[in-house]
Amino acid sequence: MKKTWLLLVVSLAVALAGCGGVKKGGEVGGSSVSDGLASDKLLELSIHMHYWDSTPFDDEWVPFKKAVELTNIKLKGTVSKSVSDSEQAFNIMIASDDVPDIIHSTTKNMDKYGQEGALIPLNDLIDEYAPNIKKALDEFPGFKEMAMASDGNVYHIPSAREGLASVGIFIRQDWLDKLDLQMPTTTEEYYNVLSAFRNNDPNGNGAKDEVPLFFRSKVIDTLLPYFEAEAGWYYRDGQVKYGRIEPNFKTAMKEARKWYEEGLIDKEVYTRGGKSRDILFTDNLGGSTIDWFVSTTAYNHILADKVPGFKVVAVPPITDINGNRPHLLGRESVQELGWGISVNNKHPIETIKYMDFWLSEEGRELINFGIEGEHFDKIDGFPALKPEILNAPETALTYLNNIGLGARIGTIFSMNREKQMIDEIGIAGWDMYEPVVERPFMTPKFSNEEYKVINAKLMAIQTYAIEKEQRWLMGIENIDSTFDSYVEQLKKMGVEELISAYDQAYKRSLSR
Ligand code: CA
Repeated sequence: MKKTWLLLVVSLAVALAGCGGVKKGGEVGGSSVSDGLASDKLLELSIHMHYWDSTPFDDEWVPFKKAVELTNIKLKGTVSKSVSDSEQAFNIMIASDDVPDIIHSTTKNMDKYGQEGALIPLNDLIDEYAPNIKKALDEFPGFKEMAMASDGNVYHIPSAREGLASVGIFIRQDWLDKLDLQMPTTTEEYYNVLSAFRNNDPNGNGAKDEVPLFFRSKVIDTLLPYFEAEAGWYYRDGQVKYGRIEPNFKTAMKEARKWYEEGLIDKEVYTRGGKSRDILFTDNLGGSTIDWFVSTTAYNHILADKVPGFKVVAVPPITDINGNRPHLLGRESVQELGWGISVNNKHPIETIKYMDFWLSEEGRELINFGIEGEHFDKIDGFPALKPEILNAPETALTYLNNIGLGARIGTIFSMNREKQMIDEIGIAGWDMYEPVVERPFMTPKFSNEEYKVINAKLMAIQTYAIEKEQRWLMGIENIDSTFDSYVEQLKKMGVEELISAYDQAYKRSLSR
């Protein structure tokens, strides 16, 4: 066995037991730390960080350079800029003799290698040295569930963001005006508006070429709540459920099929892909979509000269097809990504204090907004990004990412920061949906036994269900005559055992 971290597990467990032993006595001999700083002396720690196949830790990143002054800890990235595959980079690193002090990776990797002994369980260190991390674990929705592995230990501090609303219904206000239509308030009115878009030539070219409702992906997922159904996992009435086998999924699919058949839903919904919004707005063909607040209204500026009168706005949340409030799902506010401390790290106390800094008020301001006077100014006590950043030609988000503002370390990103990067119409949409969206179902941490069930069944079940959805929507198969056999098939494939595994794991996480 070449892995040094396996050899270190025992000695480290002893060292940590030592720390715990002096919990009530106060000072830990030899490692007392001066106020505010994570380390007495300047300390350099190595970090493996590479995520979303694009971002290796960069020693020049602004917030981390600034943090050296504030914490006495300097990070040194270990992943080369030429690396593009995050998972491969992680696998090479974790199998090597030289695992760095800090490891940043997916929750799945952190939980797995934590339980195998490559990472320190952080529970005691947090209790003793990290009040800000503790606060996030106790108070920020989903933070603890994400941080805690199935064995009850915390091996990583996850990356979180405020704000739940992510997508809403957007519509061409100029098309509503042209056809003298009111903003829809119910799903029925929305259907009528889309029908008018289809039939009454709002783009005025004499051709019936409008695509009333289009998506960049996963049509059914965002539309189904308006038909009182859900495509994925959810927890309701004390039970985890899989939406695709519930009876209301059938009625919802029949409604979706009707919309598709009448030309309201993009005929190429499954093939057009990620560029659909670009293409259909730019060609003045698309009328409505369900998409992100942070990017959709940008087309008002992008297309100002190209499509005269173009104006897309968020539709205030509508009721569902039965007149009820739909279960609109927000985004997951805690991401499956974060950092932890490897067993090779000889300074776990300083490191946890450093990690705690990034959840302090000062640390959060630094990772979100950068340096006052340079990247932001305080206006009425709140950080406001400089206009030259907001108007950066490469977009504000890209500008900030390039200098490390927003690097997905274990911290909480500010909703205020995101909102500064979108226009007023986008913010108006976000503000309308934020109070009505629900936290999405958070995939629980599975035990090894539960994982066996998931690994054996989940992929095949989802693939089958999604294929069926497509066949129904496009009319290749009749929903009424095949839904029962579809449910039977899913049961044969083990959907009930799968739901039980989810339910058991989810209830375990709720009880912690
Ligand atoms: Ca037309």
